[in-house]
Formats: sequence, C-alpha cells, structure tokens
Amino acid sequence: MFELVLKGGQVFWGDALIQADLAIDGSQIAAVGSNLKGKREIDVSARWILPGAVDAHTHFSLPFAGAVSADDFYSGSIAGACGGVTTFIDFTAQIGDEGVLDSLARRREQAEGLAAIDYSFHACIGRYSPKVVEQLPLLASHGVTSLKIFMAYGKSGLMQNDTGLLQILSSCRENGILVTVHAENGELIDHLTDQAAAANNLGIESLPMTRPVFTETEAIRRIADFSRYTGCKVYIVHVSSGEGARIIGEERQKGALITGETCPQYLYLDESRLAGANGHLWGCCPPIRSRQQQQLLWQRFACGDLAVVATDHCPFTTADKNTWENRITSLPMGLPGIETLPQLILNGVHREKISLQQAVKAISENPARIFGLYPRKGSLMPGTDADIMVYSPDCNQEISATKLHMKTDYSPYEGLQCRGCNEITILRGKVIFSRQDGWQGEKGGGQFVSRYSADADFFIKKGLPA
Ligand SMILES: [Zn+2]
Repeated sequence: MFELVLKGGQVFWGDALIQADLAIDGSQIAAVGSNLKGKREIDVSARWILPGAVDAHTHFSLPFAGAVSADDFYSGSIAGACGGVTTFIDFTAQIGDEGVLDSLARRREQAEGLAAIDYSFHACIGRYSPKVVEQLPLLASHGVTSLKIFMAYGKSGLMQNDTGLLQILSSCRENGILVTVHAENGELIDHLTDQAAAANNLGIESLPMTRPVFTETEAIRRIADFSRYTGCKVYIVHVSSGEGARIIGEERQKGALITGETCPQYLYLDESRLAGANGHLWGCCPPIRSRQQQQLLWQRFACGDLAVVATDHCPFTTADKNTWENRITSLPMGLPGIETLPQLILNGVHREKISLQQAVKAISENPARIFGLYPRKGSLMPGTDADIMVYSPDCNQEISATKLHMKTDYSPYEGLQCRGCNEITILRGKVIFSRQDGWQGEKGGGQFVSRYSADADFFIKKGLPA
C-alpha cells in the first residue's frame, strides 16, 4: 500500500503517454504501473501526468530602471506552482568586484524563507574580477554549475568584450561550468540607441530598430566561435528570432558546443503589439520580433535547434511601466511568464506546432538535464522527487490577468484562447496547488537544489537526444 496513488491517468513515460497509475511514498515517486493501491487515491482519469516544469530563467525581486520586478520569491513561487512549475533557476547579482560565492550566499539568503517551490541560481557576473577568478573553481562544489554573462549592456557595466569572453569560457571549461549567454551585440545596440536618442526617437517602436535581428545572430555566431576555440559549453538565453535558433542548430553541426532556449513571448507575440497605445507594456529585451521570425522560431524549435523554453519572468505593473516617459532607455524591461509557461507550450501541441514529447521535454527534462538537476527533477522515474503536474488536456481557457497570480495587473497574452490547463501541482509528494482548492503550499517550503554538470548530449552534433 502506497501513501498516495494518482489513479488511471496518462503518464508521460519514456517519450509518450501511457495508461498507468503513479504511486508516491514520502517525497518520492515509488512506482508506475497498473492497479497500484494507495492509502489516499486521486482519480486522474483523462488527465496527463507530467513531470513538474523547470523554469530555467526567472528574475524575482530584480531592480531595473528604478523599479523592482513585481514578484518576490514567494509570490513568484505561488504563480509558478499554479501553472505547474515546481523548480525555478534564478540569478545571483554581483555587487562591485565581489566573487561568485559572495553573490550566491546573499541571493540564497534572500530566497530562503520565501521560495515555496524548489530552486537554484545561475551565478551572474558583469566583472570578471580577481575575486571571481579565485572563487570560480569552488562554484560547482556549492551546487551551482552555470555562469551567466552578457554580450550587451555596456552602459550598465555588464558587457564582456572579446578578451573577457575568451578568459571566462577558458576558465569555465576548466572548472566544468556551463556558460549561459545573453547574446546581443551590445556595442551596436548602444550605437543605434544613441542615434535614436539624437533623433529624439526613443518611443517603443524604436526598440526593434535599435536591436535588429542581426545584433542577435552576430553575437550567437561569435560566441559559437569562442565555444569551438575553448571547448566550453554555452547556452544562449532568450533566443528571440527564428534566425537565431537556426544558427544555433547550424553552429552545433559545425562543432560548437552550443544550445539554447527561447521564451513564450517570442513564440506567441510579434512586434505589431508595440504599435498600440500601450505598446510599452510589451517591452522586453531582446524585443518581440516580426511575424515572420515568430513563425520561423516555431519551425526551428520543432526541428530541434533549441532544447528549452524558459520564461525570463520579469514582471512589472502598468504603473511601473508607465514611468518610462516615452523613452525606451528608462523603461523597465520584462514580461510576466512563469505561471503561463506550461499552458502556452502545451497549447503549441494542440496547435500542431510541436510534438507532445518536444513540449514536455522542453519545459522539464531538457532544462533539468542541461542544468544538472536530472533525474531528481524533470523525470517521473521511481526514486526521484515526486514533482508532478496533473494536466487536463481538454479544458479551454482564455488567458486573463485577473485569473493569474503573478503580481502584475496585465497579461501580454490577455484574451488568448488556450486548450489545456494545469489542475494539480505536487512538490516532493505534497499537493501544493489544485484548481479546486487553490494554493496549499508553504512559504519557505522550497529547497535549494544542488546541481551537477551539464549533460553533454545536448551540446554535440547529433542534435537533441532522442
Ligand atoms: Zn533574463
């Protein structure tokens, strides 16, 4: 007799859905099979039993352009859990020249007592200082195996020049650290933005013009060269264009150890949104692209050029966004996302953009494997954490900010019809959300999860693991 059995669902097993019961004992999955008996049983017939989603890119309580992103670790966890997310990876923030362990300790302290789903951090740096050089070899032993760097944002002191990229990638390769990269050509973007400012043209429509697609593709090609030269694995965050995705696939075929993620905003939204009266509410970097790039992005994602969809969750309220005074240079950039990640990506299956296998893996198994959380996270194998999303494939829902839990008053997807929705979320064996009873988790109930090094399979020629 098991403690809890999910009865009669369609369990994501191997690469497909199979009819089975799933049993949980304590915090772990105990068995997947038929006729399992539990002290407590939940009828999940006609539901999909999927691994809890892993959002590999969130920004809780992030200061930006005079505002702070609206979700803290607690509200962001609740929102994620309501959508089916059970683990997130956020970022540390370097102050001055401090080392990666110093920023990690401070960010962990900030999350502890608040995070209500499991979590980790990417170590984020602007300055490759002597302290960073000294502490980088110790990072993996603290459970953090990825570093975040920027090829843009020179004016905020975050951008790496080519020498910095070479030094960082060489050192990360030696220390078994995966480098996650914000790939945009910062020098060109600063130049185009200065030009737009001189012409008094910093309205929201200037955002895609100051960050044209080639500033992304050029940066991706350049970092791919550094990857080949140093042998360091790189992961491109928030790929915004179909062209960028295609180049990642191509560079991997040419021997670069490279993969990447896109985000729901680049799959669902296009730059026509920026033209409206409230176009600035859709402001994020990189910007949402043309309809053509958006369509190409679905195609390249379906072809396996990118392994992951994550959100870059960084919500601001309408009031925060309205402080911008018609200048993109003062606009808090970012969109809400964590809560709608599973729904939007699984909706892509109903829309026949991608396969069920691709959708499920892109939001659970793939980020878990790339960021060293697998199989504890991102799988339904017995002996691993019972992090589960019970998904109803047939409910029809219209996305509306009033029904969502993220701490902002608008949704960039308002009115979008989605088929399928999350019904129950289980974290380490405990039901933390159900559509019937709402949030049932615990403030501070999330755990920091130590990570291993990246699964090499994602960074070699053959493309994505079958
Ligand atoms: Zn981000």
